Amino acid sequence: MPTPPEIDCLDHLASARPECGGGAVPLAVHPKVFRDELAAAADWVASYLQGVGQRPVTRPMPPAHRQAMATGSLPQDGQDLGSLLEFVDRAIAPYPTGNGHPAFFAWINSPPSPAGVIAELLATAVNATCGMGEHALMDLERGVLRDLASLAGLAPTAGGVLTSGGSMANLLCLGAARTWFLRQQGATDGPAYDQAHARLVAYHSDQAHMSVAKAAAVIGLPPWRLRAVPTTPDRSMDIDALRTMVDADHAAGLLPFCVVSNLGSTATGAIDPIEAITRVCHRSGLWHHGDGAWGGLGALVPELAPSYRGIAGLDSLTVDPHKALSVPVGCGAALVTDPSRLRDAFTFRASYLEGDQDWPWMSDYTIELTRPGTRALTLWATLRHLGRSGVVALLQHYQDLARYLRHRVQEHPLLELCTSGPLPVVCFRLAAGPEACRQGQEDLHTAVAARVQARGHAYLATVSHDGQTVLRACVCNHLTTTDDVDTLLHEVLAAADHLQTVQ
Ligand SMILES: *Cc1c(COP(=O)(O)O)cnc(C)c1O
Repeated sequence: MPTPPEIDCLDHLASARPECGGGAVPLAVHPKVFRDELAAAADWVASYLQGVGQRPVTRPMPPAHRQAMATGSLPQDGQDLGSLLEFVDRAIAPYPTGNGHPAFFAWINSPPSPAGVIAELLATAVNATCGMGEHALMDLERGVLRDLASLAGLAPTAGGVLTSGGSMANLLCLGAARTWFLRQQGATDGPAYDQAHARLVAYHSDQAHMSVAKAAAVIGLPPWRLRAVPTTPDRSMDIDALRTMVDADHAAGLLPFCVVSNLGSTATGAIDPIEAITRVCHRSGLWHHGDGAWGGLGALVPELAPSYRGIAGLDSLTVDPHKALSVPVGCGAALVTDPSRLRDAFTFRASYLEGDQDWPWMSDYTIELTRPGTRALTLWATLRHLGRSGVVALLQHYQDLARYLRHRVQEHPLLELCTSGPLPVVCFRLAAGPEACRQGQEDLHTAVAARVQARGHAYLATVSHDGQTVLRACVCNHLTTTDDVDTLLHEVLAAADHLQTVQ
């Protein structure tokens, strides 16, 4: 067996960068140095994650540090590997945005699962290109997508592709819906395609995630052909309004082709009426896409399951394992009941990419070609670690804590619950005080959130609720406990008190 170059260089290895053949071998590292650095990094990772809860939830970066980081400063000569860990420890890790901390309740950001952290490293070492050819990680991706589809409650035919996140999954599903619809119309190319394309219309509720509008823009749908369907007081799509809008568009000679429903709206955790929307879609030949980036697996939770009835009737579903499942960022999934519809939209060939193909390439399902294997392995490892029962228990944990928070808000005289849920997001506000205090409530909630964030003991966000800014807390961390919920409320009340507007 030929000797690897590093071994040849043993004599030169006082430094981490061996000299071989008269010159430095870029990127080469002595095996012992590499092993030691990996071990040091692993040690650092374990300590860092263990200590997250003891550090401030977030810490703003000093402006000079930000500036220095954003400027770029590549030295002429390379540095030892050891400087990498020192840099992360000094310049990156001290300034978290908070996700990972058990008292972080903003947005929908979870900590990385332990299995996912390890799997990310392992997959990086394997460094598979999961777009073309064959690789065990691509087969694992197919398998783990089936697992995910089964957890969601989709039809057994469902498959798809892992993505960078929910935004990309929404884009792929809208692209697949568009191609499917136009082919059905017989409009495959030429003027017929142009004419049909110019008349396409899609629908989502007025609570939809903005990534749906982005996806629509990318597939060439102008904003005036994306309809925001009004919602009922529980913030779910008003089905009568949807029906009326679809009928009106048909009557106007337009081509309604897709409805996107929320399986967990980002702002308040609302779930649209899945079965009723599917009926409208079937009646009029539309594709039904569910945006379950956050709540796509909610059917597993007994108290939520009734809201997910009919989920198997979806044409496609977005699920973000990097949200509720704590798979490291970024891991999303585009699941399609008939996966060949993704292929219809995204299979393109080139002479420099030909080979035997027993199975479609994963790049045939998406717009990425060179794709990381980290998504498949981190998702697989996290699901393996949890098992089906662990997934259910994790989602239930979020529900239980949200219920506790709602209860605490309800029983507190200075707080008022706003409509939110059934997913684990809790919107609330400071109870309207004397008339004089009402003015400025809007700014008050923004100021309260900012003060809570700045103090570093807990973190929550605000959201616009019927045109008013209110507080929004989302539970999406397996480490969060009722103590963290108590800390959050304590911080909110202290901030409000400090701002001297609530008595
Ligand atoms: C988070 C979210 C998205 C976007 O997902 P990313 O992974 O952030 O791209 C889309 N839809 C909903 C409902 C979400 O909550």
